[in-house]
Amino acid sequence: MVTSVLAGALEKGLVENVVVLKKSNQYEAVPVLTSDVNDVYASVGSMHMLISNPTKYLRQFQNDTTIALAAKPCDVRGIREQQKRNVIDGDKIFTIGLNCGGTMMPYKIRKVTEEVYGVNPDEVRAEEIEKGKLILETADGEHHSQSIDELEEEDNGRRENCRYCVVKIATNADLACGNWGVMPDYLGKGTFVEVMTEKGAEFLRNAVAGGYAEVKEASEPAAEARGKVNGIMLKMSAKTKEDIFVPLKSQTLQEFKKELENCISCGACKAVCPPCACGPEAKCTVFNDPVDNYDISLFHMIRFLHLMDSCVGCGQCSDVCPADIPLARLYRKFADPMQDELNFITGMDDRTPPFFDVKLEEVQ
Ligand SMILES: Cc1cc2nc3c(=O)[nH]c(=O)nc-3n(C[C@H](O)[C@H](O)[C@H](O)COP(=O)(O)OP(=O)(O)OC[C@H]3O[C@@H](n4cnc5c(N)ncnc54)[C@H](O)[C@@H]3O)c2cc1C
Repeated sequence: MVTSVLAGALEKGLVENVVVLKKSNQYEAVPVLTSDVNDVYASVGSMHMLISNPTKYLRQFQNDTTIALAAKPCDVRGIREQQKRNVIDGDKIFTIGLNCGGTMMPYKIRKVTEEVYGVNPDEVRAEEIEKGKLILETADGEHHSQSIDELEEEDNGRRENCRYCVVKIATNADLACGNWGVMPDYLGKGTFVEVMTEKGAEFLRNAVAGGYAEVKEASEPAAEARGKVNGIMLKMSAKTKEDIFVPLKSQTLQEFKKELENCISCGACKAVCPPCACGPEAKCTVFNDPVDNYDISLFHMIRFLHLMDSCVGCGQCSDVCPADIPLARLYRKFADPMQDELNFITGMDDRTPPFFDVKLEEVQ
């Protein structure tokens, strides 16, 4: 469905370009801007072991073109934050949100493939998540599966921030697509689609009118099933969040400072940070300024404050930190109380998802 909507949007001129993922293998891909529909079709499928950071990628086009893309909820949150800061023009971007239960760290899963699955990662041709299992398909057609829960017991499953993420359905995108709620008859053939904005309705209408996709009204049990799975996932996230953050509540500022002692001032956390829009003149680019107070670099102080409202919980700061500082935890320690209290989680300006009540007849 997602691929069809993107292809239809490109071919019918709703957008000039699409951002697709160009795969090197099952573990690696990079975002690429294209106007070639073949690239769109080639990027079909879910890569659960990839963190692609489309927000930072989009910034370079300086709003010179109209772009459609598929994006995880945290990616859409990043785009929204850039939009709020007038860096990305929301009118020129169309987002199809993907249901996301979480991503896995590519280098870690390569290792797990070898050591836990007993499979050469270069032989993996496809991957899928089904009934709580990560299934790897090798070139010989064999399927190799492991329970995600068991992988996570050894810290080999989803990344930590995904395990406590509270936005699993991208209701902040123009269309929110996913597998949850797809009834057995349509499994593997259909995608559950929620139309979130007028733009989303337009793109879906375009795909249906152009023969790219067919739509059928979701039954009540299907919608209920979607809500139920989401509810279960959110409960699991809440439990993980409690396990991680309740013990941190007693963390003193001295301990906080200690975590930052190993910072080598490389700025990688800021470079990957989706909501960060500060230019080179900003104070948060300066480490260890002579006027720094409190023994914590102004860089860190500013980032803690900047991210209170806007941290999207993507965890990429921790992923890239060469000193292994658990930055995402530190940022979330400040961001969680504020975002929870203000119900700021999806990054929408009005702080509640603007559900666009579209009737089936309107897109057929
Ligand atoms: C990281 C991840 C976790 C997911 N977790 C869940 C889940 O818990 N529950 C569930 O129901 N579904 C999950 N999905 C599947 C997702 O819901 C499907 O992509 C969605 O149902 C659309 O299906 P489709 O067949 O219409 O998509 P397709 O037509 O196959 O299009 C999928 C699009 O997503 C893009 N894409 C693939 N991987 C990534 C990535 N890592 N980052 C950004 N874009 C990507 C592709 O390039 C393609 O454009 C997950 C997908 C991803 C990428």
